[in-house]
Amino acid sequence: MSRAVTYTKGDGIGPEIMRATLRVLGAAGADIAWEEAQVGEAVYRAGISSGIGAEAWESIRRTKVLLKAPITTPQGGGVKSLNVTMRKTLGLFANVRPCMALAPYVPTKHPGMDLVIVRENEEDLYAGIEHRQTDEVVQCLKLISRPGSERLLRYAFEYARSKGRRRVTCLTKDNIMKMTDGLFHRLFDEIGAEYPELEKEHLIVDIGTARVASAPERFDVIVLPNLYGDILSDVAAEVAGSVGMAGSANIGEQGAMFEAIHGSAPDIAGKGIANPSGLLTAATMLLRHIGQGEVAGRIQDAWLCALEDGIHTGDIATTQHTLQRVGTEGFADAIIARLGKTPRRLVRAPQGEARLPPAPARATPRPRARKELIGVDVFFHWDEQGRSPDALAARLQPLADPKLPMQMITNRGVKVWPEGIPETFCTDHWRVRFQGSEPIASAQIVDLLRRLAEAGLDFIKTEHLYLFDGKPGFSLGQGQ
Ligand code: NAD
Repeated sequence: MSRAVTYTKGDGIGPEIMRATLRVLGAAGADIAWEEAQVGEAVYRAGISSGIGAEAWESIRRTKVLLKAPITTPQGGGVKSLNVTMRKTLGLFANVRPCMALAPYVPTKHPGMDLVIVRENEEDLYAGIEHRQTDEVVQCLKLISRPGSERLLRYAFEYARSKGRRRVTCLTKDNIMKMTDGLFHRLFDEIGAEYPELEKEHLIVDIGTARVASAPERFDVIVLPNLYGDILSDVAAEVAGSVGMAGSANIGEQGAMFEAIHGSAPDIAGKGIANPSGLLTAATMLLRHIGQGEVAGRIQDAWLCALEDGIHTGDIATTQHTLQRVGTEGFADAIIARLGKTPRRLVRAPQGEARLPPAPARATPRPRARKELIGVDVFFHWDEQGRSPDALAARLQPLADPKLPMQMITNRGVKVWPEGIPETFCTDHWRVRFQGSEPIASAQIVDLLRRLAEAGLDFIKTEHLYLFDGKPGFSLGQGQ
């Protein structure tokens, strides 16, 4: 029986590139029962703020596989990002994006480039937990979880192993974010030890990104947290030659979603000139995911043949290598006409099944650590007495509990009391650390907060300071 798969036509160039893609898949013998679902602009306009209606959900939940054309994200408030909703509902924890040069047919300075980015997809600064706390300061919470990171990292290693890749590079900024990025890096080392045949390396994300731009051929599989991955994957696609060529897979526990990495390109919509390659590449990843890898290989080979034969859409046309400039449908026809052929110069697609690895199970929770409360960071909105740290300290000193003395005040993370640097610029957002030498009861924090409130101090949030198995679960202030 044919495999049921949901697809959405999307907006802008979406319907054009979807039509061409489905035509190629049909001609290549993909055994799929397609179900169309409505998402995107029209659904948003009908007043559904998620951009996806109940019927579409029903189909996606049942088939668990979605081929998604780009959609136009409406401007203005009140609407939710469809991608984010989809990601959260299907638990799409990993975004996999291969970036390969197709030189000389697609111009690039790095013809040897062939890397795959595995990006964490659910956590980090994308949890969307943001608050305005004072007149001058807003914050966004960066959340990195052990189970989320473990599963993603394991997936990256499994991907590298199953695809015969040799090296996995992890990029973080753990020289600065020692706890969040530090955890991701540590787990990379821990889980990497289970894959002795793979070479492992860690680079700081800034120099790592610079190297992807300058020497991408030295990378193989790259694994990284959400925000860095978001940025790096566009850098890599651009360096490979064209954002219009790349596809990506979003792998989850409950399902998987495949899409081109580009948007709905409203500037060329309806002209019949869009390049369907990004969506077609995503569709071949989908075919491998559902066990139709042979069809995927045939399509990829034919696609490479069309590129080699100089049949190009306008976005990749060059004077040197383009023999025939075609539109979306013309390009699909060229691919269909080459099904069964193998490329002469470009590297052939993997043959046979070449499945994507399945989502690893969640790791079993570890034994809980011994947790002791030893203090609290209280954050204040305070804009009095010329924002003098000494004045704030003098105001707070009499309110502190002797068992929970005031240790330091920071402003934007920099220590300004005691013995701060007078030149430090201070905003209206202060963090005051109250910490003793012995474990305390949370009631002591409640008492402290009551005294602060009674004194008319505007505290805006607290963070408890814990020891986990005797080790501090908090960072020191800069200069502490
Ligand atoms: P875009 O990727 O749509 O377009 C950027 C440029 O690349 C344009 O000049 C466009 O003509 C060109 N281009 C893109 N895909 C092409 C293709 N297949 N063939 C030929 N040329 C192509 O980015 P944008 O203009 O910033 O965004 C347009 C809309 O798409 C916005 O509403 C945005 O929110 C949305 N978007 C959606 C997704 C998605 O659904 N996954 C991703 C990115 C952007």
